Amino acid sequence: MRVVIVGGVAGGMSAATRMRRLDADAEIIVLEKSGYVSYANCGLPYFVGGVIEEEDALLLQTPASLHARFKLDVRVATEVTSIDVAAKKVAVKNWQDSQEYELTFDKLILSPGASPVVPPIPGIERALTLRTVEDVEKIANRVNAKPKSAVVIGGGFIGVEIAENLVHKGVSTTVVEAARQVLAPLDPEMATLVAKEMRKNGITLHLGVSAKDVTDTTVVLSDGTVLEAELVIMAIGVRPDTSLAKAAGLAIGARGGIEVDDFNRTSNHDIYAVGDAAEKTDAIDGSATLVPLANLANRHGRVVADHIAGRATRPIKTIGTAIVKVFDLMIAATGWNEKRLTASGREFMVIHTHPNNHAGYYPDAKQIALKLIFDPKTGEILGGQGVGVDGVDKRIDVIATAIRGGITAPELADLELAYAPPFGSAKDPVNMLGYIAENMMSGLVKTAQWNQTQDLRTAGYQLIDVRSPSEYGAGSIPGAINIPVDEIRSRTSEITSAPILVNCQVGQRGHTATMLLKELGFDATNLDGGYLTYANSPAAVN
Ligand SMILES: Cc1cc2nc3c(=O)[nH]c(=O)nc-3n(C[C@H](O)[C@H](O)[C@H](O)COP(=O)(O)OP(=O)(O)OC[C@H]3O[C@@H](n4cnc5c(N)ncnc54)[C@H](O)[C@@H]3O)c2cc1C
Repeated sequence: MRVVIVGGVAGGMSAATRMRRLDADAEIIVLEKSGYVSYANCGLPYFVGGVIEEEDALLLQTPASLHARFKLDVRVATEVTSIDVAAKKVAVKNWQDSQEYELTFDKLILSPGASPVVPPIPGIERALTLRTVEDVEKIANRVNAKPKSAVVIGGGFIGVEIAENLVHKGVSTTVVEAARQVLAPLDPEMATLVAKEMRKNGITLHLGVSAKDVTDTTVVLSDGTVLEAELVIMAIGVRPDTSLAKAAGLAIGARGGIEVDDFNRTSNHDIYAVGDAAEKTDAIDGSATLVPLANLANRHGRVVADHIAGRATRPIKTIGTAIVKVFDLMIAATGWNEKRLTASGREFMVIHTHPNNHAGYYPDAKQIALKLIFDPKTGEILGGQGVGVDGVDKRIDVIATAIRGGITAPELADLELAYAPPFGSAKDPVNMLGYIAENMMSGLVKTAQWNQTQDLRTAGYQLIDVRSPSEYGAGSIPGAINIPVDEIRSRTSEITSAPILVNCQVGQRGHTATMLLKELGFDATNLDGGYLTYANSPAAVN
């Protein structure tokens, strides 16, 4: 059997090596357009900043090493230019010697990845994009020539990573993002923390504006701002590379990726597609989705090899778990965010907490901002987001695992998570989310969100801030009066019979105060996440 694979990186190479482990005799040919295979695309931004010093560190394998270990026939600088579906062959061009030839296949696996989106802005040709080792060499050469200024267009994962690395190289860096926030997978009150970190480290951010013109020395924005830009990097997102599939008449799905079934077969069952080019199935609503991340590309590559080898496979759905570092922060998200749930019309409940990464009494405890979104009736976990210096990764990974395992939000309280003071708390932040979810779903407490505060005030709610006078004095929600939690019993005469919105710093004392007020006969609601969530939200920032 001959298996031909288009694309020799994440999905393609996972399929190739798994295929070999399952079939010692198959002829496996990997065709890769660029000069390298098995390179670490996720590490590319760190080469720009010199965090990864040696280019060789990005090159995980070579055609020779892959042949030695796996007897793979890996051909670099070799582009598949077309697929003849009926004749089961591909046309190939070698860019080094310009040789063109055809290869027949029994099974074809497409893993051509995704291309950076480059919008038709005047002058955009001089913008650089980042996808391959050759791309990063170009960017690194330009950066090593010490440009005075750089503009990164796009504040997504790759944009913020490149921006940070440009700062490491001493380049004055501006990020332009058309949305009103960076990092689209986050909700705005979480993304604000990231924007703060970027600004703190010297990056200038322009949010809610787009680039409309690129001149030889500047980038002009839609609001008329002119930015000095010796170097321009375009990172507004990627689009599935479907050119080969489309030309071959393979079905393209509703989201613009190659349509595949549960086994990653395309509309032609001898041709598979994996990785960024292929559509995925969303685990939350079963819809087709695009998730250009390495984990899925690798996983699907392996599943395809299993399927070709006749092994039982199961459909791999996605919840889009992702993580990124921005200077001292780690930022992670899984599942759906509030923006997407609102747009889809699905009901949900939200919890914001601000726990420490480990026991507060153990040195160096750092506060995390954690968010959980779940179904108010079933408790199904719909999403999670976290921002903090440490400990975000494991909380989001636990939440991601809970989503896939069908663990509900209140059941997070039951998880037995590894604990000793340097690592966590006896009631881990994830357990706490479970406790709060249980309180909310059972109706024990009512909570309101940061974006409801002024509406509730207008509706006649009394806003009571139960923090200490010094905390209150350092900043409070407009209209809130200060009655510290420990003084509530003695100061009930200051409270009217109108409903109350209680806030503290992070929601915990507010919960105690809300329960107390309820016992005293008042109608009290706790502000979820407290003043801290409010203060970082668009309700307070900008
Ligand atoms: C800068 C950067 C940082 C990233 N960071 C992360 C991260 O931190 N975490 C994460 O999960 N994901 C990250 N990703 C995304 C991740 O790298 C991709 O999801 C993953 O590599 C997709 O695998 P793939 O096999 O679909 O495509 P790729 O790994 O992109 O491989 C596709 C290959 O196919 C080749 N090709 C295309 N067309 C042809 C053709 N016609 N003939 C021959 N060869 C062809 C291309 O040259 C390319 O090398 C990052 C991506 C980039 C670019």
